[in-house]
Amino acid sequence: KLVALTHKLFLLQTGEAAVGKSSLVLRFVNDEFQENKEPTIGAAFLTQKCRLEDKVIKFEIWDTAGQERFHSLAPMYYRNAQAAVVVYDVTKAASLDKAKSWVKELQRQANPNIVIALAGNKIDLVQPVDDGEEDPVESGRQVPTEEAKAYALEAGLLFFETSAKKGDGVRDVFTEIAKKIPLE
Ligand code: GDP
Ligand code: MG
Repeated sequence: KLVALTHKLFLLQTGEAAVGKSSLVLRFVNDEFQENKEPTIGAAFLTQKCRLEDKVIKFEIWDTAGQERFHSLAPMYYRNAQAAVVVYDVTKAASLDKAKSWVKELQRQANPNIVIALAGNKIDLVQPVDDGEEDPVESGRQVPTEEAKAYALEAGLLFFETSAKKGDGVRDVFTEIAKKIPLE
């Protein structure tokens, strides 16, 4: 009988407060969504096993609070992280700036081989508007997909747009990360 080896993958969630970091993890781990999620205090630890081709991956996830007062604790969580998901909210331009500053910090201070994914969350709040013109217009969006994608490419990040509420793109974030990490 073949027993698949379980590979552990340490992952960190970070980004501005209220962009949906905890909701993304909750969607991935329990496939559920809570409309009024209480803010994370400090950090929460969650695990999820996932099959990828012939491997079993156990994600060990530190879901950190985005608030400044917890910032000094961040190095404790990213020191051993093999991967990070840096989340922003596509309806809040400032949250992308915050995400960029997290990416800078991780690229300077974390494990040099860390795989970083940038996730633009809450795409369910973006509505297409048919104004009769050729270029599609969207309401609610403050961060154009192309702008964030270009930044991610330049910074060497995986890039996703997600909705923790509807589930769109959430699994991809974690499976694409797992594919990029050499598992021993
Ligand atoms: P965190 O502080 O980054 O962990 O954010 P939370 O996961 O606590 O979410 C903050 C708020 O945004 C909560 O009210 C969530 O219900 C809401 N939220 C999170 N993800 C989404 C999403 O994909 N779509 C929508 N519409 N709301 C979301
Ligand atoms: Mg949270």
